[in-house]
Amino acid sequence: MTIPLLKLKIGIQTHGCRLYHYAEIALPTPLRTTFTYSIPAELKAEITAGMRVWIPFRNRMTIGVVVDLHNEKPEFKTLEINKALDSESLISSRDLKLFKWISRFYYCSLGEVIQAALPSGLNFISKEEVRLSKKEVKLTDKESVFISTIQDEFPLLKKDFDKRFNDPYKTSVIKSLFKKGVLQVWEVPVEKVQEKKVKAWLWAESKDQFEKELNDIFQKQKKVFKWMEAGQKLLDMELPQSQINLKVMTGIKAAELKKLESTGLIISKDLPESMFNEDVIDEVKAASHLNEDQQRAFNHIKSSIDTNAFQTYLLKGITGSGKTEVYIHALQEVLDQGRNGIVLVPEIALTPQFLSRFRKVFGDQLAVYHSRLNERERKEAWEQINGNEKKVVIGTRSAIFMPVKDPGIIILDEEHDQSYKQEDPAPRYHAREIAMMKAIEHNSVVVLGSATPSMQALHMVHENKATLLELKKRHADAKLPEVEILDMTQYRGAMRGPLAVPLFFAIEEALSKKEQVILLQNRRGFSSYLQCLSCGHIPQSPETSVSLTYHKYRNMLLCHYSGYSRKADTLCEVCGSDELTAKGIGTQQVEEELTTLFPEARIIRMDRDTTSAKNSHSKIIQSFENGEADILLGTQLVTKGLDFPNVTVVGVIDADTELAFPSFQSTERSFQVLSQVSGRAGRAEKNGKVFIQTFQADQSPFTDVAHHNFDSFSEKEMEFRSVLNYPPFSRLVGITFKGKNEALVSRSAHIFTDILRNALSEEQILGPSPSSIQQIKGTYYWECSIKLPLEKGDRYIEHLFDKVFEHYNSNKPPASVRVNVNVGKVS
Ligand code: ADP
Ligand code: ZN
Repeated sequence: MTIPLLKLKIGIQTHGCRLYHYAEIALPTPLRTTFTYSIPAELKAEITAGMRVWIPFRNRMTIGVVVDLHNEKPEFKTLEINKALDSESLISSRDLKLFKWISRFYYCSLGEVIQAALPSGLNFISKEEVRLSKKEVKLTDKESVFISTIQDEFPLLKKDFDKRFNDPYKTSVIKSLFKKGVLQVWEVPVEKVQEKKVKAWLWAESKDQFEKELNDIFQKQKKVFKWMEAGQKLLDMELPQSQINLKVMTGIKAAELKKLESTGLIISKDLPESMFNEDVIDEVKAASHLNEDQQRAFNHIKSSIDTNAFQTYLLKGITGSGKTEVYIHALQEVLDQGRNGIVLVPEIALTPQFLSRFRKVFGDQLAVYHSRLNERERKEAWEQINGNEKKVVIGTRSAIFMPVKDPGIIILDEEHDQSYKQEDPAPRYHAREIAMMKAIEHNSVVVLGSATPSMQALHMVHENKATLLELKKRHADAKLPEVEILDMTQYRGAMRGPLAVPLFFAIEEALSKKEQVILLQNRRGFSSYLQCLSCGHIPQSPETSVSLTYHKYRNMLLCHYSGYSRKADTLCEVCGSDELTAKGIGTQQVEEELTTLFPEARIIRMDRDTTSAKNSHSKIIQSFENGEADILLGTQLVTKGLDFPNVTVVGVIDADTELAFPSFQSTERSFQVLSQVSGRAGRAEKNGKVFIQTFQADQSPFTDVAHHNFDSFSEKEMEFRSVLNYPPFSRLVGITFKGKNEALVSRSAHIFTDILRNALSEEQILGPSPSSIQQIKGTYYWECSIKLPLEKGDRYIEHLFDKVFEHYNSNKPPASVRVNVNVGKVS
C-alpha cells in the first residue's frame, strides 16, 4: 500500500500517523531510479521527504535525498539510513513535485535534477573522525592519563587528530587505544562548504570586569605600554568583534591584542564571518515614474498580481523602451503585497549596470545567484532565500530552482535567449518551461520580456496562453539607430581588410571624434559551411532546410538533422558561379587586421577566451565604459544588457556565420543577435549607425533587420516553422550518441532510430546522422531527432523513452556508447 505523500507535509506532527519503514532515495547518478532504504526505528520520527540523509552505497558512505516514504517491503534486502543530515526538509513538497515533473519531462534522473537545483556547497563529503567509544575496557595508567587529558575534545576530525599528535599511530599508547577499540575511526558527513570563520575577540569575563582589571593594571604599571592604550580603546567597543574590524576601526594591532590576551583580559575565538559583516545598504530610491505605455503594460500585470492567479504575459518592447522599468514596478507591487519574486536574466546580461538598477530600488532584499559565484557565495544566497531573509532572487537560468517562498512573480528578461536552455549535463532543461510549471504550482504571474520574442512565446500568445503587452517606442522618444546592410557581393573590390569601405570610413570618423565603436565578430568556427561569394547562397538540406555542414576530409555536404548528404558542389546551385568557399573556421585574425587598419586605436577583445576568469567580463565592460578603449571587438557577448552612450558605430563583420549555423533556429537567432547589437548604438543623444556585412542582403532576416521590423520577420519565420513542423509547432527531442569508436556510435544510433521508427510515425523522425560537431578529441557524435506533438507532456515522454530504452538495452548495445536525451533541443 502506498501512503499518500500529503501526510508528510505535516512534518513534526507525524505522531499518531503511521511511521514509515522505507525511504526512496535519489542519488546523483543518471540511472532513472530511486534507491530503497529502510529507516531504523530511532530515525522514524525524524525522516521526512526532501531531507538529506547519510547512507551506505556501494561500500562507501554518501549523501542522498529522501524523495518518498512508504511501507512496501521490497523483495531485496535493504540497507539502513545511517543519519539524517537536516532537521527538517530542505526541499519543500511543492519543489519535490516540480523536480519529479522535470525528471519525467526532460527524461533524466531525479538525482540529477536535485543536483542541478541545490548549490553544490550544500553537499556533504565524507571525512574520517576519531571517536572515543564508551566501551568498558581495562586501561593502563598511561592510557587513562592520555584519555583524561583529551576526552573533552572528541569527536575530532582524523586530520586534526593526526596533526595534533604528530604521527600518532607510532605512539604506543595511542596504538593500543585503537587496538582495544577505545579510540575508533568513523566515516562521517561534513558539509562541503562550511561557513567562513574569522579570528574574533571577546571579553574574558565581561566588559565591567575588563574595565576593572585594566584600571588595576594602569595603577600597578609605572609605564603606559601600547597594549594598555589598546585596552583603553577597547572600552569604546562592544565585543565580540573580528580582529580585522578592530584593526580597521581602532587601529589596534594583533600583537597588542595578543598581549591583552596573555594578561587574561580578553580571549580569542574563531567565529562565523557573517557575524561581523556590515551589510552595505545602498540608498534605496523609489522606482522611476512609468511613462504612458509602460503604465498601461504595468496595469495589466498588476491586475493579475491582484488576483493571485497564474497568468503569463509577453512584454514585447524594443530595446530601450523601458521593459526593465516595468519589471521593477511589477516586482515592487508583488513585494508590497507580501509575496516574493524571481528575476531571470541571460548568462551574460547580469551586468553591474543591470543589477544596480534593481539594487537602487530593492536594496538588500535582493539575492544574486549565477554560475560565476563561488560555492560558498551560492550556498549563502540559497540559504538567504530559503530562510526568507531575501525576498527576490535575480540570477541566471539555475536561479529558477531557488527556493523562493511564495513567488508572486517570475520574470524572464530576454526570454528568447539561448542561455536559458541547459545543454549539458542533464537535466537539459529550459528555464522558461520550468518557470511556467513553477508558476502554475504557486499561482504566480510570469512576465516574459524581449525585443525579439521567441517563436515559442509568440505561439503562446496565438494560442491564448499568454497575453501580449507591447512597448513600441523608446523611452523619451530616443531614436532607433539607422541600420545599413552592406551587400558583400557588391563590395568585394572595395574592402579594407575585413571591412567594406562604408564601415571602414564610419569607424575612422567616429575615432576622429573620440567616439566609440563596437564590432561583432562571428562566433568562433564551430562547424564549417560553403558559401557562394557571388550570390551569397549557402547550400541547404532539401528535406529540413537547415544549412548543410561541410565535411572537408570527405569533401561532403551533410545535413546533421536528417542525415542527407551529397558530394560537395563545385558550382553554386543557384547562380552557377565557381566561387563556392569554405567558411566558418579561423576568424581570429580580425583583431590583428584591425590593429593594422587603425594603428592609433585602442582595441579590446571580448570572447570566451578573454572572459573565462571571474569578473573579467565586467572588467572589460567597465574599462570600455570608462573610455579606456576605442573599439570593443567581441562575439555575441557584447550584445547583451549594455548601455554605452558614447558608441556611435556598431559593425557586424560577417552576419552569415550565425545564419549558416546548422539549426532550424538560425534565422531567428540571426535576427535576435542583429537587433540586439543594433540596440547598442544611439542610446543617448548621439545618433548611432549600424553596419551589417552579409552576402545575402536581400534575404530574411536582413531585409527586416534593416527596418527594425520584427513582426514582418516573425510572420515569415512562423510560416517556415509551421510548414516543416518545427518548434513551436512541435517539440523537438534530440538523442545524441557519443563514443570513441565511430562504427559503434553509428551502429547504436541506427539501432536506436529503428526502435523509434516502430514507436512513432516516419515524418516524426529525422536521422540518424553524424552531428555537426563531428569529432572532438577522438570522441564521435551521432544524433537523431524526433518531433513530438506539443500537447504530449511529461508522462508521455517518460513512457515513450522507458519503452524505447528497454527495447534498445535488450539489443545489447555497445556499452561504450553514451546515449543522451535532449528534450526541447534548439540546434
Ligand atoms: P529595455 O529594458 O526595454 O531595453 P530600459 O529599461 O533599459 O529598456 O530603458 C532604456 C533607458 O531608458 C534606460 O536608460 C532607462 O533608465 C530609461 N528609462 C526607461 N523608462 C524610463 C522611465 N519611465 N523613466 C525614466 N527613465 C526611463
Ligand atoms: Zn551563387
